[in-house]
Amino acid sequence: MITFAERLQKLPPYLFVDIRQKMAAARERGVDVISLGIGDPDFPTPDPVVETLCNSIQDSDDADRHRYGCDSPVAEFPEAVAQFYQHRFGVSLSDEQIVTTLGSKDAIVKLALGILNPGDIGIAASPGYPTYNIGHVFSSATTYYAPLLRENDFLVDFDLIPVEVKRLAKVLWINYPNNPTTATADLDFFERAVEFGRENNILIAHDNAYSENTYDGYQSPSILQVDGADEVAIEFFSLSKAFNMTGWRLGFVVGNQTAVEAVKKVKDNIDNGSLRALQFAGAKALSIADDVTPKLNEIYQKRRDNVVDALTDSGWDVDRPKATMYIWAPVPEQYNGSSRAFATALLEEAGVVVTPGLGYGQWSEGYYRISLTYPDNVIDEAISRIRTFSTQ
Ligand SMILES: *Cc1c(COP(=O)(O)O)cnc(C)c1O
Repeated sequence: MITFAERLQKLPPYLFVDIRQKMAAARERGVDVISLGIGDPDFPTPDPVVETLCNSIQDSDDADRHRYGCDSPVAEFPEAVAQFYQHRFGVSLSDEQIVTTLGSKDAIVKLALGILNPGDIGIAASPGYPTYNIGHVFSSATTYYAPLLRENDFLVDFDLIPVEVKRLAKVLWINYPNNPTTATADLDFFERAVEFGRENNILIAHDNAYSENTYDGYQSPSILQVDGADEVAIEFFSLSKAFNMTGWRLGFVVGNQTAVEAVKKVKDNIDNGSLRALQFAGAKALSIADDVTPKLNEIYQKRRDNVVDALTDSGWDVDRPKATMYIWAPVPEQYNGSSRAFATALLEEAGVVVTPGLGYGQWSEGYYRISLTYPDNVIDEAISRIRTFSTQ
């Protein structure tokens, strides 16, 4: 009899499974379903990045092009990372402070495996990205969820974390600009986070997946801009959302040298690195950020305005986010805070899929998320259906 390990039995259901089932059932009943559910950019990867990948893989002068990325790393990638951090954030990084990853989701779990022992606590926020908890479960550690509340601008309140939790915690995960709440953090908040880490001997792991997806001229800081941050902090950066490269699986972790080394050690024993052509292409992407980012953000910003205006016109309470490709809003009053009831009604009556807050941990109920990573015509159609739905 083959059975799953306990760690698999402990996992919460994957957030989108329930939605996929409901979508399939609605389609079967003949409902024309459109989704604003998943955050995965609809734009193609920039041409120069694709061209660099193709040229690199075809370059027969590179005798190592087929080899393990960890044994034959491409020096251009960490160089491009260092230049990007210097140029974008004014942060200097040494080689020992940089590790290339197969995207952030992967690296988040690897960091957990590299620093947590059974019985340790990891602090994650709720609502929040589910992978932090999954890293803890895979490491036989437990998760303490710090609530992100709207009245606190969805920022972690460090003063509310219990003493006992602080004593056992080895890592605190933060993520600003935040998925799903769209909240942003200023340098002042990051200073408090670093202070919290220093006082309690807790690694501050900042998941910086959305720093480039910002609007209205807003620029999102890096936690490493805080003086001395690298004593207790690391930052996860991903090329997925910034450069439309979700399927490529490429990112990096920077900052605290011990934590970076922990990720490296786990990687050396599990993944053997990224294809060299991928690393060349990633270096290219980072080098053309100034060109790519403004154009992308202009489109997201327009979509954001269209959706926020439509929801507001529908009489629903919604904020206009200055970052991320999401809208996070309280469910309309008549649903009494049930995100599942609202999402189900919207699906069944309007054929529009949004993500119920519910799946983002114990403090996430009462909200829903809309993703702006769908073509303009899909978003326009969804908006017009939502307008009709809201007047029924
Ligand atoms: C999308 C996302 C990531 C993961 O991106 P990768 O594709 O794994 O690099 C990490 N954190 C958050 C909060 C995300 O939304």
